[in-house]
Amino acid sequence: ESKSSALNRICFFEPRMAQEAHEQRELEIELRRALALQQFRLVYQPQVELGTGRLMGFEALLRWEHPVRGSISPMSFVPIAEETGEIQRIGAWVMLEACRQACHWPDDLTVAVNVSPLQFDDGKLADVVQDALTRSGLASARLEVEVTEGLLFHNPEAALNQLTVLRQMGVDIAMDDFGTGYSSLSHLSRFPFTKIKIDQAFVRGDVDEGTHAMVNTIISLGASLGMNTLAEGVETREQYDRLRDGGCDAVQGYLISRPMEASSIVPFLDDYSQQTGFSRTGT
Ligand code: C2E
Ligand code: MG
Ligand code: MG
Ligand code: MG
Repeated sequence: ESKSSALNRICFFEPRMAQEAHEQRELEIELRRALALQQFRLVYQPQVELGTGRLMGFEALLRWEHPVRGSISPMSFVPIAEETGEIQRIGAWVMLEACRQACHWPDDLTVAVNVSPLQFDDGKLADVVQDALTRSGLASARLEVEVTEGLLFHNPEAALNQLTVLRQMGVDIAMDDFGTGYSSLSHLSRFPFTKIKIDQAFVRGDVDEGTHAMVNTIISLGASLGMNTLAEGVETREQYDRLRDGGCDAVQGYLISRPMEASSIVPFLDDYSQQTGFSRTGT
């Protein structure tokens, strides 16, 4: 490579990097005001028991409605919120909002809430959860907290303590995105998980025989550890049937429904019970 082409590259990239850094700083500032400006909302995706088709509950997924950029994915703004420390306040809002919403549903339905590994840092997650349960009036057995494997490396002792407290409160704990990242089987048994969520990468799209075998292994691992298994990203009937035959407990994915607005849940419940013949009580 000649000197001049290297130089061209520098000249080409520098303004763009400066621009990106600028946008990043702007987003950070806007993210700090987003809560107060009520730009966050939660959407909900159903979780269904395999085989019976029984609706078990919903996962709450965060959305940021930016006034100029439109809806921004949590995959882009959650990392920023983690860097700035804003995730603590946002996470507390998500927890309370999800618990409040779930109180409007039939009382056999659960709500799953995603929690960032950084929310364990200040040692207050159990308090945040207890506060949300008390203020909303939701029974702890109806709440599930979803954590990713990053948690196990970030601050294992703090995480273990707080997860243990959550379990004692009666809250369920799911390991999210299992199978990606640096999965460690010893971690899985050392933490009080009640559910394994099998990552979409093993479920969605064209997966080969090796991947099927891996999914089946995760399912039996869950069974032998006394944990439920739920497969994420189920988009086709074929995937659904294969997971059911493999003994997976539950599924979530576009095949059942995309994440929906809170206001769509009650109509969805009516449609769903009509389609599947499951009548609901407690509405
Ligand atoms: P996740 O917890 O693993 O959530 C599943 C993601 O997969 C969601 O994306 C969901 O919309 C999407 N999804 C579900 N079914 C299908 C399917 O069949 N096909 C495809 N292609 N996608 C499907 P979303 O809502 O964009 O969230 C992305 C990630 O952002 C979440 O992954 C979670 O890690 C994080 N996140 C979302 N809400 C929160 C939150 O309130 N707090 C924190 N800390 N993180 C959150
Ligand atoms: Mg999740
Ligand atoms: Mg439970
Ligand atoms: Mg996931």
